Parts: sequence; structure tokens; C-alpha cells
Amino acid sequence: MRITMIGTGYVGLVSGACFSDFGHEVICVDKDESKIASLERGVMPIYEPGLDALVATNVRAGRLSFTTDVKAGVANADAVFIAVGTPSRRGDGHADLSYVFAAAREIAEAVNHDILLVTKSTVPVGTGDEVERIVREAAPGRTIRVASNPEFLREGAAIEDFKRPDRVVCGTDDEAAREALRQIYRPLSLNQSAPVLFTGRRTAELIKYAANAFLATKITFINEIADLCEAAGADVQEVSRGIGLDNRIGRKFLHAGPGYGGSCFPKDTLALLKTAEDMQTPLRIVEAVVSVNDSRKRAMGRKVLKAMGGEARGKRVAVLGLTFKPNTDDMRDSPAIAVIQTLQDAGAQIFACDPEGVEQAKKVLQNVEFVADPYTAAESADAVVIVTEWDAYRAIDLSRLAATMATPLLVDLRNVYSREEAEKAGLDYVGVGKPA
Ligand code: NAD
Repeated sequence: MRITMIGTGYVGLVSGACFSDFGHEVICVDKDESKIASLERGVMPIYEPGLDALVATNVRAGRLSFTTDVKAGVANADAVFIAVGTPSRRGDGHADLSYVFAAAREIAEAVNHDILLVTKSTVPVGTGDEVERIVREAAPGRTIRVASNPEFLREGAAIEDFKRPDRVVCGTDDEAAREALRQIYRPLSLNQSAPVLFTGRRTAELIKYAANAFLATKITFINEIADLCEAAGADVQEVSRGIGLDNRIGRKFLHAGPGYGGSCFPKDTLALLKTAEDMQTPLRIVEAVVSVNDSRKRAMGRKVLKAMGGEARGKRVAVLGLTFKPNTDDMRDSPAIAVIQTLQDAGAQIFACDPEGVEQAKKVLQNVEFVADPYTAAESADAVVIVTEWDAYRAIDLSRLAATMATPLLVDLRNVYSREEAEKAGLDYVGVGKPA
């Protein structure tokens, strides 16, 4: 199959590289010239484990190429995937679909043959209908079949998720479109049994939002249980284990922490609420999740302040981990932003480190001293705060850390360490959802 990805970001690039690794011929298009130039030099514009090698192999094999030219990109394509951003629209929280609609129009105006057009971007239910209307108008007489194929990959494990997904969801009632999607994903069914779920287009669009809202709910649920654990003298990690071993609940997404962030959950939960509001079917559970999670991020900053005795003016705080989760450089809606700003508002000086996120963090954080490692960050600090559980922060020499600090206090917002090991190293310890 000849496949073209429109949008070469986290999803477009990973999907394009994986499709080419399946043996398809793939062209990745992006209007960001610096991104394409960088990819042509073999330099990845994002950090994603294993991506550079995967791209290099498939470029060398002649199956993967990059361009800024939509017309050239779609000229011979059998299927064109839209993987552009759908951020929150400024002001009202609806998904901003302007990039999707613009891409659909550009594709329709550029093709001279019939194609399958697949929306991989996360888009509200009914968007496919509007995409179909746009392409009909822009390319009258052409058959452009519009399908939905939402993406479920997680940053940090994106290649593995793409190649070994729990399921692939394809939304279209058109038999020719279904057959083309079957061909595209055939390599998945050859080596293992990832179910390809065919649904109507609207259903597929909604599955993506329902999945993200459910996961966000799970995280928020355990975060509130963590607060209750603190008040009640119980341990949230043991509660998680105790409930998660029940198959009906499952162990994943039950780690208490500073609230969910990232490029998907915050904007997708908000967009789902807007859709529900428009359709006059309010989703009250998701409303509560969004509001609880919003307030949690700053609450975590206040938790650090409380651990410091309520006073941070002129004090130094070391922040370990900035990205919204490990193994990515993505800072979008990272809890670290609210935690740091709350501490800065209280007068603290921030010394921060992150294995991959510093470059992105510099764009969203002000007055932060970025340093190379936890030990440098902790020098003369009055508190060390673990915000993102990078592997590199899981085996810190806590005694060495304590020795360099002005006040030996560890606030562990990811429960990476136990109170016992921290105290043995001479650190006061505050975790999340732990008995005092
Ligand atoms: P991104 O911002 O990393 O990438 C989007 C890219 O599209 C950018 O490089 C931009 O320059 C390009 N673009 C925009 N308009 C274009 C056009 N008309 N022609 C060519 N290129 C264009 O976004 P992302 O994180 O890859 O997300 C893309 C979509 O996938 C979103 O809807 C998101 O919700 C969804 N999604 C993201 C993830 C994730 O983990 N990042 C996971 C699942 C689904």
C-alpha cells in the first residue's frame, strides 16, 4: 500500500515509521519545514525511544520519505491519513478542528485520483461527516472514502503500542474502505492477534474519547483515594494493589500522583464535555474528573509548601522531572508546570532537571535554573521534589543527595521511594497517599 501521513508529529511520525516497517510505502508530510529538514538529516524532531533507528532503517530501505509538499505527497497515495493536532480551542475548550479541516481541503484539492482518507487525529463525534462534506466540495467527481481510525499509542512506548496494540479501531461502513484498512493493518494480524474492530465512523470517533475519559477517571479516582488515605492513615499503594488485583478493576492507571497531564487527557476530556454539553447529555462524572484534576496540580505545589513548613520565600527547591511522564520530551499540560509556578508564587527558587524535557520546558517555564542532574539540583536545597518518575531518578543515592541539601526533605509525588529508605538516608519523607 502507498500511504501518506499528513502531519508528522508524535502520532504521524510514529505511525508513518511503523507502517513503513510493515512494508508499506510511506510519505510523511508536514508543513513545518524545520521538522522535515531535520528528518531528512536523520535527526528526530521529538524524543521517542527507538524511533531514530526505526526511521533510519526504513529510509534506507526506500520505504519512508519526508516532504513539505502535500501535492507531491498524495500524488500516488492509496490511503492518506490525517494526523494533525486537535488542541483545545482558545476560550471554550472545544477541539480546534481547523487543522483537520484545512488538511482535508488541501488533500482533496491536491489529489487527481480516488483515495481512502483516514482521520487518525482525535476528533469529536461527527467530524468525519464534516470532513466528507469538505472533500466532496473541494473534489467533486472524485471518490474519497472518509474513515476514522483513532490512535491509542502512548508517548514513551509509542512504537511498541503501535506494533502490538490492544486493538485497532476502524470506523467506516464502506466495504471498500474496510478492505483497504484490513490490508493496511494486515501485518498486525499475521504475528499476533490484535483485534481490528470495525465500527461505524461516529462510534469510532467516540471510542477514542470514551477511552481517554475512562483512563483519566481511573487516575483521578485513585488520586482522591490517596487524599483519603493521608487523612485516614492508610497507604494508597497498598489500596491500589488490593483493588487492582481484581480483574474487573485491573492494576493499570492506579498510581496516585500529581494529576494527569500531557497532550491528550486534558484536552480530550474537555472536548468530550463540550460535545456532551452540545448534545444535551451532560457527563457529570467526567465533569468532576476535569475539575478535580485541575485543582490537584496546584494542590501538589501547596503540598510541597506545607512539607517545607509553609514558608518558601528565598528557599531553594530542586525539581526532578518536568515532562508529563517519563520517556518523552512532551511538556504539554505537565503537572510540573503548576507545581513549579505555585512554589515560585510563594517565593521559592527552582533548580530543575529532566533527562529529555529541558528544551521544551524552557519554552513554558520562566526563572527556572536548569541543571544536569539531581545532585546538582539538590545542592543547598530546602526540598527535593520528584515530579516525573524517570528511570534515572529511581536509583538515586539518597545519602549523597541528603548530604548536599540545606534541609534534607524529599517530597515524592510519584511514590518512587519508601519512607524507610529515605529516612535511612537522612531525609524527611513525604509521599502521596501515605500514612504520616
Ligand atoms: P503534534 O503537534 O506533535 O503534530 C501535529 C503535526 O501536524 C505538526 O508537526 C504540524 O506542523 C502538522 N500539521 C498541521 N497542519 C498540517 C497540514 N495542513 N499539513 C501538514 N502538516 C500539518 O500532534 P500529535 O501529538 O502527533 O497529535 C496529533 C493527533 O493525534 C491529535 O489529534 C492528538 O490528540 C492525537 N493523538 C495524540 C497522541 C499522543 O500521544 N501525542 C496519542 C493518540 C492520539
